[in-house]
Amino acid sequence: MPTADVVIMGGGVIGLSTAYHLARKQAGRIVLLEKGPLGDGSSSRAAGITSNLMWTETGVAARQVGAKLFRELSEELEGYTYYNEHGCLNTYTPTQWANYQRVLPIYDRLDAPYEVLDAVEMRSRWPALTPDEHTVGILDPQGGYSEPPEYIAALSRRIRELGVEVREGEKVVDWQMGEGRVRGVCTESEVFAAEAVVCTVHAWGSKLLGRLGWKIPVKYFVHQRYVTAPINEPLHWPPVNANSQDAYFRPASGNRILVGTSSPDRAEHRVESLDFHMSELSTPTTVRDAAANRLAALLPALKNTTWKSERVGLLGFSMDEEPILGAVDRLPGLFVGASFHSGGFSYNPVAGLLLAECVLDGHTCVDISGFSPNRFQDAEVDAYLTTTLDERDINNRRH
Ligand SMILES: Cc1cc2nc3c(=O)[nH]c(=O)nc-3n(C[C@H](O)[C@H](O)[C@H](O)COP(=O)(O)OP(=O)(O)OC[C@H]3O[C@@H](n4cnc5c(N)ncnc54)[C@H](O)[C@@H]3O)c2cc1C
Repeated sequence: MPTADVVIMGGGVIGLSTAYHLARKQAGRIVLLEKGPLGDGSSSRAAGITSNLMWTETGVAARQVGAKLFRELSEELEGYTYYNEHGCLNTYTPTQWANYQRVLPIYDRLDAPYEVLDAVEMRSRWPALTPDEHTVGILDPQGGYSEPPEYIAALSRRIRELGVEVREGEKVVDWQMGEGRVRGVCTESEVFAAEAVVCTVHAWGSKLLGRLGWKIPVKYFVHQRYVTAPINEPLHWPPVNANSQDAYFRPASGNRILVGTSSPDRAEHRVESLDFHMSELSTPTTVRDAAANRLAALLPALKNTTWKSERVGLLGFSMDEEPILGAVDRLPGLFVGASFHSGGFSYNPVAGLLLAECVLDGHTCVDISGFSPNRFQDAEVDAYLTTTLDERDINNRRH
C-alpha cells in the first residue's frame, strides 16, 4: 500500500471535518480509519447545539470561524441545514450571571455579537418560554443547532466526493515509528504508512496515545440527551442552554423537543479497552425526568410529555477544560484533536480547519496556543490522572 499523505484515526465529526478541510486544501492521499461505522462515538449522540459564547479568547475566536463554516456547510452539503433562525439562548440565575459577566469583555474585544435579555424580553420574543423574573438570558445570534445524523451523513458523502479514502471497520491498534517520528498506524489487518497522522478518537485516545508513552490529562464523563414524541404546538424558540436549570433543550425534527442534561454526581468513566463501545453506557430514567421537571418551569410544553428516544455518550474534559488541538512536539508527525468538553459538535467545523492548517501550513488562522497539546507538564498530568473526579468538579459544562 503506498504511503498516504495523511491518515486520520476516528470518523466522528472532528475526524470527518479534518478530512473535509484537508481534501479542500488538496492535501494528496487522505485515508480516514474508523473502527465502526462513521459517527459511531459521541458525534451521533450529540444534541448538536452551537454557540460562540465561550469562556476564553481562544474558544470565542475559534467558534466565530466555526459559526461561519456552519452557515457555509448548510449551503454546500446536500441534506444538511444549520438551524440559526433564533440564534442560541443561554439562561442564568442571578448568582450564575454575576460570575458569568466576567467574560463579556472577551466578546466585546472580539466583536462576538450578543444580547443580554431580561425575563420580560425573553417572554415577549418567545411566548412559549416562561423564565422567572430573576432569570438572565444572553442570546448568541450566530448560534443555533444541527441534527447530527443529517450532518454526519452529508459530510461523509462530501468527503468521499472529494476523494478521501474512508475505511470503516478498521480499528487502529498500534503505531508505526521510525527515526523518532510517527510514520503511520497499524490496524488489526494492515499497516497504513503516512507522512502525518491525525488522532481524533475521543475517549479511546488516552489508551491509544498511552502506547506511545504520551499521556493526555483528560477525564471522560457520561452524558445523555432525550427526544420527546411530537408536540401539539409550534416550536418557535431558540435552542436554550438553561444553565439556570442545569439542562438544555432545543426543537428537534418532527416537531419534537430534545432535552439534555449532565449527571453532576456521577464519577468519571475510564475507558479501559480499545473495544469499548458507547452502547455499553446507560443512565437511569430518573435523570431524564428530573431534568424535564426542572425545565418545565422554563418550557411548560415539557409537562406530561412522552419520551421517544435516548442517547448516552461520553464527554472529554482536559485538566484546564480547554480542547487539546495541534502538533505534538515530542512526537513529530502526530497531530491530535481531543477533549472538546460538551462542545465538540460546535467546535467541529473549525477544529477540522485548524488541524488541516497545522498539518499542511504549520500555522493557523486563529491563535490556538491556548489549545496546544504541549501546554501540560508531565508531573502535573500524572498527578491529575491519579485523581478521580465527579462531573460536578468540572466548571465549564455547556456547549
Ligand atoms: C449526549 C451528548 C450530547 C452532546 N451535545 C452536544 C451539543 O449539543 N453540542 C456540542 O457541541 N457537543 C455536544 N456533545 C459533545 C460532542 O458530541 C463531542 O464533543 C463530539 O462528538 C466529539 O467528536 P469526536 O469526533 O472527537 O468524537 P467521536 O464522535 O466519539 O468520534 C471518535 C471516533 O473514533 C472511533 N475510534 C475509536 N477508537 C478507534 C480506533 N482505535 N481506530 C479507529 N477508530 C476509532 C470511534 O468509533 C468514534 O467514531 C454531546 C455529547 C453527548 C454524549
